[in-house]
Amino acid sequence: MSLDTQLPDDGVHVASAISDEVVIELASVNKWFGEFHVLKDINLSVNKGERIVICGPSGSGKSTMIRCINRLEEHQAGDIIVNGTEMGTNIKNIDAIRRNVGMVFQQFNLFPHLTVLENCTLAPIWVKNMPKAEAEKIAMQYLERVKIPEQAAKYPGQLSGGQQQRVAIARSLCMSPTIMLFDEPTSALDPEMISEVLDVMVGLAESGMTMLVVTHEMGFAKRVADRVIFMDQGEIVEQNTPDEFFTNPKSDRTKLFLSQIL
Ligand code: ADP
Ligand code: MG
Repeated sequence: MSLDTQLPDDGVHVASAISDEVVIELASVNKWFGEFHVLKDINLSVNKGERIVICGPSGSGKSTMIRCINRLEEHQAGDIIVNGTEMGTNIKNIDAIRRNVGMVFQQFNLFPHLTVLENCTLAPIWVKNMPKAEAEKIAMQYLERVKIPEQAAKYPGQLSGGQQQRVAIARSLCMSPTIMLFDEPTSALDPEMISEVLDVMVGLAESGMTMLVVTHEMGFAKRVADRVIFMDQGEIVEQNTPDEFFTNPKSDRTKLFLSQIL
């Protein structure tokens, strides 16, 4: 498990501009895998511009929860409302939500047979009907933002893990999402590549993006999170500001978890 060493904890918290507008609402969300009750009555409200870090032991339901937000998993009870649209079974609603919600995975999930640039332009061209030249121009802007424009013509297999993850972030941004979900984006990376990805994520936070980030990078949480959520056994056990969460955890389960990772 990663330690608190990848980002200097210089005590500077990235200022946030949280608006009153609620952009994600989970109300009494429950989900089962067969008999297994994986999400138990999850209630969570996220405001525009808010940055939330989600942590908790392996198997606690973190991935399942954020995957429900763009319907990579289907919940069985309760409501999920994203940007005012309810995640029912209506495929139009699901499509609308997916266009607005970008997701970055632990394993990058780039298309290996497409170049970096093609990975970035695929969805804008095919989902948004964007002209190719425009899609390429936008893609290059985002590749510059994640500091790898010179890799545009390469294939993912020719890049380091850190570079691939930055491409994955750029690819997501090319769809102009209003919300970004990250599921352990640095867990598959060699230690020396973690900070180059976290730096990009800090930049995204500075730009005002609404972010939900599953990570155990506590330096990142302290620097960027407005709220840290601790999950265990399918429940949100505790949530607080990073300061309070790390220095004054309330539940025994949180204390145990923190004692294991810090
Ligand atoms: P986390 O991300 O916190 O490690 P997950 O959300 O991946 O946890 O998984 C929560 C629990 O649900 C685990 O016990 C896992 O084995 C189980 N689970 C995840 N996906 C499936 C699935 N597709 N079918 C059955 N069980 C699953
Ligand atoms: Mg997970």
